[in-house]
Amino acid sequence: MYYRGGRYLERWVMALTPQRKKEIENKAQELLVKHGQTKLPIDPKAVVEGEGLSVFYEDIVGNCTGLLDRENKRIIVDSDLAGNLPHANCVIAHELGHYFLNLGTAKGEGAENDDEYEANYFAHTLLMPAPYVEKLVEIYNEKEETAFDSLVQYLCYMFQVTERKARHRLGELRFGF
Ligand SMILES: [Zn+2]
Repeated sequence: MYYRGGRYLERWVMALTPQRKKEIENKAQELLVKHGQTKLPIDPKAVVEGEGLSVFYEDIVGNCTGLLDRENKRIIVDSDLAGNLPHANCVIAHELGHYFLNLGTAKGEGAENDDEYEANYFAHTLLMPAPYVEKLVEIYNEKEETAFDSLVQYLCYMFQVTERKARHRLGELRFGF
């Protein structure tokens, strides 16, 4: 069984105020409803395109996996991720977060700052809305299998996200051992 009150809390979750987190969550929720994304897995590309942006796969120099070209309303995903839907989903949702939340700021990917925390939080709430996570944990708790790692794998599959993101989301929602 996995109960609230886990020990795993990320720095960026701590860095954002409860009010800001609520605003970010509301924005993600608004977009999901607006673009009919009510079934799992959430398709962030459908939200992006519904908002008039496009996703392009291109070679990105350096170790960055995604970029937002705000001027041309383009999200660029590194071409290495073209066949990796879970990772691409996370990148697309993160860049969409920058588009909506960090208006006019361009501090660059890879840096650790509030913009990055906000984009990450947005991606988590867009791809893994809290009620869905709660429901899946509930379903999982009824199973025989109770290893935390297999819960993480289950969420990765259902949400089509990376293991890292699934773990972070469980941490944010205080699910742990
Ligand atoms: Zn970023």
